[in-house]
Amino acid sequence: MSLLVVGSVAYDSIETPFDKINDALGGSATYISLAASYFTAPVNLVGVVGNDFKPEHTKILEDHDIDLTGLERIEDGKTFRWGGKYHYDLNVRDTLFTDLNVFENFKPKIPEKWKKASFIVLGNIMPSLQSLVLDQLEKPRFVLCDTMNLWINNTKEDLLDVMKRVDVLIINDSEARLLTDEPNLIKAARRILQMGPEYLIIKKGEHGALLFGDNSIFSAPAYPLENIFDPTGAGDTFAGGFAGYLHKTQDLSFENLKKAVIYGSTMASFSVEKFSTKALEGLSNLEIHDRFIEFRELSNF
Ligand code: AMP
Repeated sequence: MSLLVVGSVAYDSIETPFDKINDALGGSATYISLAASYFTAPVNLVGVVGNDFKPEHTKILEDHDIDLTGLERIEDGKTFRWGGKYHYDLNVRDTLFTDLNVFENFKPKIPEKWKKASFIVLGNIMPSLQSLVLDQLEKPRFVLCDTMNLWINNTKEDLLDVMKRVDVLIINDSEARLLTDEPNLIKAARRILQMGPEYLIIKKGEHGALLFGDNSIFSAPAYPLENIFDPTGAGDTFAGGFAGYLHKTQDLSFENLKKAVIYGSTMASFSVEKFSTKALEGLSNLEIHDRFIEFRELSNF
């Protein structure tokens, strides 16, 4: 069974110190699916768009063998829109607006033929909707879940419920602290693992990522990039590369999860080099392989 991805499909308006772009293709499911498509095909996407979703964007997804059977199109609605502004320190981002539009009444419906899916990525959407997805699946073998500060602040109980049902949770460092009220990341990670997930990944922006298992920790380096143009979607791209590689190899050992973290970081490092999904649209397997090797060399001593 193919990898199943659920999340937002969006039009993003992004400002960075270098440039500005309006209504660019974005959304958690978009970034996850594009990144995963370099490892496994097809990728099955579940989400929602409005009547303004452009054919050229449908084509980008289809050209990457992303099956859009589960992408609902609401004929009298507008696609979800999100606006963000990055500071000179690109780790700092303000959300300028969130226009839910068709997302407001979104109830993910898993197509009948996908209910037996065994590898699932729950992209960043409301935790109750993530649970609704899991309710419709027969017996998933591996569930990866992403979330954000908005849900930790506003719907923490729902998030705690879904966390009990996932294998890997991905969050960033500030979200780990917020979720646990614990400033030390190692202690925070231990507490989060007690909340349900078997593994936890804490992303630290341009400082790499940490993978936590029962009694193991793996610290992945960050790729020393000179040209970061747009960090939007880096976290989702990481999740897509990570899950895509695990789905391809079907090996859920800690050793293989470590490799998947490096593939996730590799994909994220490409994603931030161009605006929106541009960098993810035309990568070659050779480029991905070469950067994976460079990543390995970074911390090989
Ligand atoms: P990231 O940079 O990985 O945190 O993800 C950025 C993407 O998340 C953008 O493309 C947005 O469209 C999407 N996004 C932002 N806020 C939300 C939200 N509340 N629900 C779903 N997706 C969102």
